[in-house]
Amino acid sequence: MVTTNMARAASVKQLDLIGRLASERGVEAPATDGLTSGAASDLISRLMAMPRPARTRAARPAGADLLERGVYLREGRVFRVYLNQRRDTMLAKEPIKADGVTTWKYHGDASRILSPGMRVTSREQVAAYGLEFDACMVCGTALEDPESKAAGIGPVCASRF
Ligand SMILES: [Zn+2]
Repeated sequence: MVTTNMARAASVKQLDLIGRLASERGVEAPATDGLTSGAASDLISRLMAMPRPARTRAARPAGADLLERGVYLREGRVFRVYLNQRRDTMLAKEPIKADGVTTWKYHGDASRILSPGMRVTSREQVAAYGLEFDACMVCGTALEDPESKAAGIGPVCASRF
């Protein structure tokens, strides 16, 4: 019966969610003693409709919404995309090999030249570029030890890929 369901006590899951939503929105956690399941879901809806404080939004950099960090390919050219130190823009660098030495050309804001669809998601492909440029394409570090050189990717980046 519907009336029985409406009078059911709020679940632990609902109470957890209420606490989390309240803290995310910077409001005091509402009293939940004797709260019914129906009242809890109303409260959850109201909390969810409240805007989050700017502090929470700023934690996610604007640039990160556009491009993920990683390796990108555009018209046969490879780029490494990474977050800047201020954590608000994704930047691009391009490895260029001349006379057996790789240097990185800086391109600034990655979103001006790259788009999400250009991201290389195959680990084998990323490792192949690493072999070509003697550098880990994920973090940009030159590959020095024989094992990393053979793998085309640094051990830390390989474990996260
Ligand atoms: Zn690396």
